[in-house]
Amino acid sequence: MPEPAPFLAVTDLRERTLTAAELTAALPRAELDVEAAATAVRPVVEDVAVRGAAAVLDASERFDGVRPEHLRVPQAELQRALDELDPTIRAALEESAARVRRVDTAQARPEETVQVVPGGTVSQRWVPVRRVGLYVPGGRAVLPSSVVMNVVPAQVAGVEQIVLASPPQKEFGGLPHPTILAACALLGVSEVIAAGGAQAVALLAHGAEDLDDGGLLEPVDLITGPGNVYVVAAKRLVRGRVGIDAEAGPTEIAILADGTADPAYVAADLISQAEHDPMAASVLVTDDQKLARAVETELARQVPAARHRDRIDEALRGEQSGLVLVADLDQGLAVVDAYGAEHLEIQTADAAAVAARVTNAGAVFVGPHSPVSLGDYAAGSNHVLPTGGSSRFNGGLCVQTFLRGIHVVHYDQDALAGARETATTLAAAEGLPAHGTAIDVRFQD
Ligand code: NAD
Repeated sequence: MPEPAPFLAVTDLRERTLTAAELTAALPRAELDVEAAATAVRPVVEDVAVRGAAAVLDASERFDGVRPEHLRVPQAELQRALDELDPTIRAALEESAARVRRVDTAQARPEETVQVVPGGTVSQRWVPVRRVGLYVPGGRAVLPSSVVMNVVPAQVAGVEQIVLASPPQKEFGGLPHPTILAACALLGVSEVIAAGGAQAVALLAHGAEDLDDGGLLEPVDLITGPGNVYVVAAKRLVRGRVGIDAEAGPTEIAILADGTADPAYVAADLISQAEHDPMAASVLVTDDQKLARAVETELARQVPAARHRDRIDEALRGEQSGLVLVADLDQGLAVVDAYGAEHLEIQTADAAAVAARVTNAGAVFVGPHSPVSLGDYAAGSNHVLPTGGSSRFNGGLCVQTFLRGIHVVHYDQDALAGARETATTLAAAEGLPAHGTAIDVRFQD
């Protein structure tokens, strides 16, 4: 019998000295074609902008195989889903939400007033976005945990109006999955839309004068939440009309591991994210070839036993996944920073010290007992995180995502006098004398 091909393609960087740009290019990452997906979904977004609810229903029929009876889920269905929710799932959702709420409440930034000079203050007020649209995936898997991750920080921020969209499910008569409806009811979200993909994002952004129940769907100010490449592409298309959080697309895990890591844990964690999507990325970065071989042996043992083995197999063997061999942990850190994973696990000796040196990641999971799955459901952290290297400039969803900082400037006359020369000099240097006059006029008798 020939040996089965290894799951993870190898990139060997041990003998190579690369610039940051060369390093990024050398790493396994699919050219995740958000632009191609945007070309594909642009007609859907434009159709929804023009035809509203009718266009959403047509797209649902085409992409989800079902035409929902109602786009806005009736209240009775939300209550029914909650009444019928398995009590153990209810308890888990409650615990998950309580943990996220604890973290968000403590981490909301307080308003801060700085006295710049006597009589001159600048405050920063944090004002919640008024109306937000939250997307909860429901294609390959339905993710009620994403209801918790979207809704709780919005509530802690004080958002007034929350509308949540999730794909209609054929087997549930065109309603979103009952566990998603139950999670909404549990958290007090009453405006739920049975729509998925680009059509949902477009509907949230444009609103509809006349939803199928005859009511108005007001457009939102901000759309957040994870989704597949079509959801990411649609968010890119409506950005500007509305705000979006990060591009939280097909999931990624990178693991920086040394010889102290347990190969069974490493393999299980790589598999856990590959189970989301054939486009999911699982990347192992290690300076220990023995560990790399042991992880391959574990993958060969664990993948065939997994329920979603076909999807996992495709994701692990895809160009976006792989094994990166490095000379030492310093090079390993350079690699994980260049990659900027959505999820980064540190499974090394003295993991906390190694983790403290990481600068690019959506979230970092430290040591052998902090797997990404913990963060997906029950750590108290948020699982809506930037993908595709966008952790270089974006953080994950948190209470601050739903707040806008407004500077409030309050100077008295003496304080203005102290700033007069600085301001008028810069105004003159910029060739904008009227700016200077607006200050000088306040000092004329
Ligand atoms: P989804 O709800 O994101 O997408 C389903 C929708 O995609 C459907 O309703 C349909 O309208 C649309 N669609 C499907 N095929 C299409 C096509 N060919 N053209 C146009 N539209 C199409 O659910 P999903 O597919 O299961 O994806 C969920 C994704 O969310 C996964 O990739 C997962 O990795 C990701 N995720 C990311 C994070 C994060 O924070 N980055 C967190 C959780 C999940």
